[in-house]
Amino acid sequence: MQIESLVRPNILKMKPYSSARDEFKGRASVFLDANENPYDNGLNRYPDPLAWAVKEALTPLKGVPPSQIFLGNGSDEAIDVLMRIFCVPQQDNILILPPTYGMYQVSAETCDVALREVPLTADFQPDVPAILAAADANSKILFLCSPNNPTGNAFEATKIETLLANFKGIVVVDEAYIDFSSQPSALHWLAQYPNLVVMQTFSKAWGLAAVRLGMAFASETIIGLMNKVKPPYNINLLTQKAALTALEKTTEQAAAIREILQERATLAAQLEGLSCVKKIHSSDANFLLVEVADPNATYRFLLEKGIVVRNRHTVLLCEGCLRLTVGTPAENKYLVEMLTEFSK
Ligand SMILES: *Cc1c(COP(=O)(O)O)cnc(C)c1O
Repeated sequence: MQIESLVRPNILKMKPYSSARDEFKGRASVFLDANENPYDNGLNRYPDPLAWAVKEALTPLKGVPPSQIFLGNGSDEAIDVLMRIFCVPQQDNILILPPTYGMYQVSAETCDVALREVPLTADFQPDVPAILAAADANSKILFLCSPNNPTGNAFEATKIETLLANFKGIVVVDEAYIDFSSQPSALHWLAQYPNLVVMQTFSKAWGLAAVRLGMAFASETIIGLMNKVKPPYNINLLTQKAALTALEKTTEQAAAIREILQERATLAAQLEGLSCVKKIHSSDANFLLVEVADPNATYRFLLEKGIVVRNRHTVLLCEGCLRLTVGTPAENKYLVEMLTEFSK
């Protein structure tokens, strides 16, 4: 597949903004090239535009070289940048599989790109024949969210691979929840499928939602285009430092993930026995999609008790469902106590 043939002609043609720090690569002790304030307060210089140190720290963890890593101001920026690279407004379209993460649609609407929705099957898996039938020559991006938000399940590997091999555009696999999943990451397909983009984030398992840092892994061609389109200094120095600090603490991170998985199992077991709970969907993420007898009343009751959950009752295929994030042991215990009280 020729990736260039999918790219908007104006993007292929454009010359990227070249910053002072891009143009000067050598060693110097006096920097009078970027109109910065010269007095050192730790933050007076522009940061590395490509956050190279963070990418080098990610390489051993992900098995992907820095040249195949994009960093964005959250995954949301990666989604938006991809939309603007590949989709001609009012001409191209993207495919999404509802129920799923809301940002794909928001980004498409912002960019005036048409949306084609192919619902998941009843067991929350991609409907592969329907997806391929819905695509045409203007279908530039297919968004697969696995593990999926809000359903919580991972997609079957054979379905993802069939779509990678047969969809004639970019396939984005959004793996925001991959660290909680029993399924392997799609990263191992990078060498084989030049149309694959894998997105991950520091917002969930890494516990850094506030720093806003998302990752995308893809071919050098796609990463080069993403770096060309992004704002030059999209990852600020404070974020780069927070990521580097976190990436040194992989042992603590692994322990935190194990604890959340343990709590997910405990919470599911305790919810199982409650009369207001009808079904607990299996989860590969740090949340549970739970069908209850009266979702709106349950939601309101929990709010009165100071607990906010996500009401997904009006979402396709999620009728009756609340989405519960796995909290601390104390928070989960309080949630179960309140749901027990509500069940009486
Ligand atoms: C939470 C989440 C993200 C994270 O987005 P950021 O912008 O990196 O915080 C991405 N995708 C999905 C499906 C999510 O649920």
